[in-house]
Amino acid sequence: MSELTATSVDKKLLGFTNTETEIKRRKKIVPNGVGIFCPSTTVHANGAVITDADNNQLIDFGGGIGVLNAGHCPETVVKAIQDQAAKLIHSSFHVSTYDGYLSLCERLAGILPHGKNTKVMLTNTGAEAVENAIKIARQATNRSAVICFTEAFHGRSMMAMTLTSKINYKTGCGPFAPEVYRLPFPDHYHFGKGLTEDEFIDQELKRLDDATHSMVAPENIAAIIIELVQGEGGFNVTPQRYVEGLRKFCDEHGIMLIFDEVQSGFCRTGKWGAYQHYNVTPDISTWAKSMGSGMPIGAVMGKAEIMDAAAPGTIGGTYLGNPVCCAAALATIDLMEKENLNDRAIELSKLVASRFAIMKNKFSCIGDVRGLGAMQAIEFVKNNDPLQPDAEMVSALINNCLQRGLLLLSAGSNKNIIRILSPLVISNELLNEGLDIFEEELQKLNK
Ligand code: PMP
Repeated sequence: MSELTATSVDKKLLGFTNTETEIKRRKKIVPNGVGIFCPSTTVHANGAVITDADNNQLIDFGGGIGVLNAGHCPETVVKAIQDQAAKLIHSSFHVSTYDGYLSLCERLAGILPHGKNTKVMLTNTGAEAVENAIKIARQATNRSAVICFTEAFHGRSMMAMTLTSKINYKTGCGPFAPEVYRLPFPDHYHFGKGLTEDEFIDQELKRLDDATHSMVAPENIAAIIIELVQGEGGFNVTPQRYVEGLRKFCDEHGIMLIFDEVQSGFCRTGKWGAYQHYNVTPDISTWAKSMGSGMPIGAVMGKAEIMDAAAPGTIGGTYLGNPVCCAAALATIDLMEKENLNDRAIELSKLVASRFAIMKNKFSCIGDVRGLGAMQAIEFVKNNDPLQPDAEMVSALINNCLQRGLLLLSAGSNKNIIRILSPLVISNELLNEGLDIFEEELQKLNK
């Protein structure tokens, strides 16, 4: 690894007085609805290290919710942002065409091909990418229904929120968008109940077929949208055969298969996109998060003829593909390529998975360890029962680890999962340092 990698942090923590003041200040002026995942502060950050309001150095295992695969403030990305901001901040791609937008689309089509001809539209966020993907799928099929899954997260705008599963993310926000149908995610760990994985997948694929009689007619289904690795849902990995089954089902019925890769994209799983592990090509896909190293940018990609089905004027927006964000994304992709972050994600995943496996043997409170590439998660349950989530353990772990200088993120509807989304540029030393803190705090809490 290069000089990007910080190898250690200043272990001496200086207390959290200023952090507490900032959190109080936040509570006074910012509505409660803007949730707090981790009661920490950030003043500046570099690589995988955050410096907080008390001048503590925190090891970042959250990556700003999976946005910082290339690390905090990579030098080349900062420079690209500065240079672009000095030249052109905005002109709106609807008003005038500029190189950054085109170059980024061409680059994305190169690393994330969708069949022979790929077309790309840029967005500001993941939710916006999802909204547009559904609009395109509906226009391409002249149908309205969309199938999604339990434990899915697709964003907080109205269609994306409707597609999202977790009730806490949508309480009181309805009425939700019509014509959305939800199937159980093929989650063998929680719901396999004595079936082998193969038997379970057969059962779930049959459930999909049955849904065409009991839930919605196939000729009304525009799209099926799925995360190949559920992000907010707790890193549930869609089984290979189920994904192949979805592809076959969609082909048979003329349905658009949409992969939401907002969290799993850009080297996180060891490939540019998780779909490249599966050898299954989506019709449409959605991207954001680590694409721009923190600048707000996302994309909808798809087979050219499908993307072209959307009528002029039906997709777009004032800021989409802002020149500064495009420059950040191009520099991020360059850096990911140069630093070979796909391979780095695999190295990192082996280290995390092996340490999690050791912890699972040691601590009875760990129910499952799972993931794809560097999307690794650890699930806490009571009485070794997948259906008895232990959210208190996760909440205590997050708070105790923060006091020791390690920033963690939870996941899952029941908040009983810890997911690792650290920058991929983290050094092995720093990663192990963070995992040591994690294990020590776990040891104290495990009864
Ligand atoms: N899809 C997935 C899979 C996500 O993980 C997220 C964000 N957590 C979104 C969509 C929404 O992205 P954004 O917050 O940028 O709107």
